[in-house]
Amino acid sequence: MTVPQIELNDGNSIPQLGFGVFKVDPAETERIVTDALEVGYRHLDTAMIYGNEQGVGNAIKASGIPREEIFITTKLWNSDQGTDSARDAMDLSLEKLGLDYVDLYLIHWPRPDLDRYLETWLTMEDIKAEGKTRSIGVSNFHRPHLEKILAGSETVPAVNQIELHPAFAQRELRAYGAELGIHTEAWGPLGQGKYDLFSETALQTAAEAHGVSPAQVAIRWHLQSGIIVFPKSNSRERMAQNFDVFGFELSADEMASIDAIDRDQRVGTNPDEAT
Ligand code: NAD
Repeated sequence: MTVPQIELNDGNSIPQLGFGVFKVDPAETERIVTDALEVGYRHLDTAMIYGNEQGVGNAIKASGIPREEIFITTKLWNSDQGTDSARDAMDLSLEKLGLDYVDLYLIHWPRPDLDRYLETWLTMEDIKAEGKTRSIGVSNFHRPHLEKILAGSETVPAVNQIELHPAFAQRELRAYGAELGIHTEAWGPLGQGKYDLFSETALQTAAEAHGVSPAQVAIRWHLQSGIIVFPKSNSRERMAQNFDVFGFELSADEMASIDAIDRDQRVGTNPDEAT
């Protein structure tokens, strides 16, 4: 199975399908990520705040897979925003992961109330220049947050990682990102199980037509929409299912009927209100 590579605006490439480890128990992370690597995933999405970077790093090391064949993202937590604290946080993440560099480092949330994300972004530029991360990006940034860093820095974020699933399709923010060359990454691509996405008629109908599960249809919808996606599952069977999405293609009509599910239904925190 070949996962498509997406070229980022800095010339680096990212596998379009990956594996996320939010809420993966640190004690179980090494085993779960080992399963994911065995299934075939080569893109892992973690964060300092998940507390499981060490397990991710242990699994990578134990796998024997060459470092350059795995794409690793981690994220800078809110309390580490600021120049010195961001530098320290990057070093601590690398130490926990047991790596010399990550592939992508993200500001996890803008936290506009703190008003430190531009300063933090300028530090991310330095961290990239020092080779500790190959690419830099942001997460949960709304248009005004993006505008502020674009006006105050030299670097357009490679990605913006945002909540995105059929009932919360984020069309405007995706279009704005696309204009600027910022690739959209989806978090919560399956709605985090917080609403009954899999019972939506559009997903069920397409699933039946292609002999796949509604979850596979949802992931395929992300991929065909050009979005970078990394569903999470603790179960090896579901990991394998979520990775097995290249043997069918949704028709234009099926895509349109899934597009029509959009109803501005957020399941997570609104970045403007995060504290
Ligand atoms: P998700 O939408 O991937 O949902 C995960 C849940 O869906 C699992 O716990 C499981 O119960 C269910 N599931 C998975 N595969 C299934 C299948 N085949 N059939 C039925 N149910 C299935 O939610 P997520 O984990 O929150 O999002 C994915 C990743 O995005 C995270 O692991 C993390 O890496 C990232 N993330 C980032 C942020 C951020 O603020 N940047 C926030 C949340 C998540």
